[in-house]
Amino acid sequence: MVRNHHGNVPVTERLALFGGPPTLVTPIPSYRSIGNEEAEAARRVVESGNLSEFIGAWGDKFNGGPEVRAFEAAAAEYFSTSHAITVNSWTSGLVAAVGAAGIGPGDEVILTPWTMSATAAAILHWGGVPIFADIDPRTFNLDPQHVEALITPRTRAILAADIFGQSADVHALRELADRNDIILISDTAQSPGAKVGSRFAGTIAHIGGYSLNYHKHIHTGEGGIVVTDDDSLADRVRMIRNHGEAVAASRPGIDLTNHVGHNFRLGEIEAAIGIEQIQKLPELVASRQAQGGRIATTLGHLEGLHQPHVAERNTHVYYVYAMKIDPTVIPATRDALHAALTAEGIPLMRQYQNIHLLPAFREKRAFGSGHYPWDYTGSHDRYRYGRGMCDNAERLNDSEFLGIEMCRYNLDDGVLVSFRAAFEKVWENIDSLRNWQGVP
Ligand SMILES: *Cc1c(COP(=O)(O)O)cnc(C)c1O
Repeated sequence: MVRNHHGNVPVTERLALFGGPPTLVTPIPSYRSIGNEEAEAARRVVESGNLSEFIGAWGDKFNGGPEVRAFEAAAAEYFSTSHAITVNSWTSGLVAAVGAAGIGPGDEVILTPWTMSATAAAILHWGGVPIFADIDPRTFNLDPQHVEALITPRTRAILAADIFGQSADVHALRELADRNDIILISDTAQSPGAKVGSRFAGTIAHIGGYSLNYHKHIHTGEGGIVVTDDDSLADRVRMIRNHGEAVAASRPGIDLTNHVGHNFRLGEIEAAIGIEQIQKLPELVASRQAQGGRIATTLGHLEGLHQPHVAERNTHVYYVYAMKIDPTVIPATRDALHAALTAEGIPLMRQYQNIHLLPAFREKRAFGSGHYPWDYTGSHDRYRYGRGMCDNAERLNDSEFLGIEMCRYNLDDGVLVSFRAAFEKVWENIDSLRNWQGVP
């Protein structure tokens, strides 16, 4: 009989959802990447008195102070890119990358609906029109065939997210982009350190980058890094980061496309912390990979529960341990399983994202009270968003996806014993969930 490590609760007990004792009753330890090294780094900067050294004028300080530059040099070296440009969030980084790519009003950008809303908002920011292509149900990343079918003469870029910890099919997408003379942008927010062959996810696109917000593998509280090997894209990102319109007069002859800027500058404290964090990235990634492997061993025997698929040539850094249920094998719905496992004390994600179904898209309302940018090149009726556009993304969200947030918890071996006990208890009692309607 499988027993909970905190007590002696037999797995055949009545489900907690129906009044039985929960399997896991102690809190799960948190994932944590910040330690003494970061505290020391922050103290060093505070004591210097210079918490930022950016100046919004062309000159030495246009690209920030010593910590920012040192962090950028460390990131460029780590990811093996010509340029690593820090920003105050990856949302800012996405806006800068889409702007640098030259996207303007009415330009179409093809992206995945299975991503954070910021991926799509960055396109809208420049007046671009987001066009959603469906995902590969094995990897949750953009399916290049669906992307290809949506390319029109108006398409100017593909924005692929490397979701849950592994790269999209970036070589196929890059080939598609190059063949159509458009730009490929990678949103690698969730997959820093993941590899595609010998290269890092995010660096094979024309431009890409990583989030440094507090629930990613490594963080600086808030922050982001843009990476590219293209000097002109890098220059444009730096202009957008730091009030480009204010320095254009000092740079005769520069391309003024999308040069009007923002303040997307990262502070010196965050940059100093970032230098420490990037050194820890390999070890933190290895810890997620080890836990991912142990979860597969713990849950792999459960019938109808698919463990994550790692695409050929990819490594997976497990931002989310993404499982799928097979409804042809399991007699209970995904939502019933989720409710039963939650009641047992197991925290799981039930859904992720279907960005194409947000009100902004369904109603085509983003700026002002009209339908800009969808009406920029004519009637907004040309574009429609709704159910049926991305069947795989919708089905996964509605009825198949179950995920574990790997950068939120530290699933040590003791916790995994409880995971196994809880899942086995639910699987043994699965028939009792057959008619569950959400009201236990
Ligand atoms: C976290 C995240 C972002 C946004 O990054 P921030 O640093 O929070 O602005 C964008 N895209 C994806 C896929 C993310 O997970």
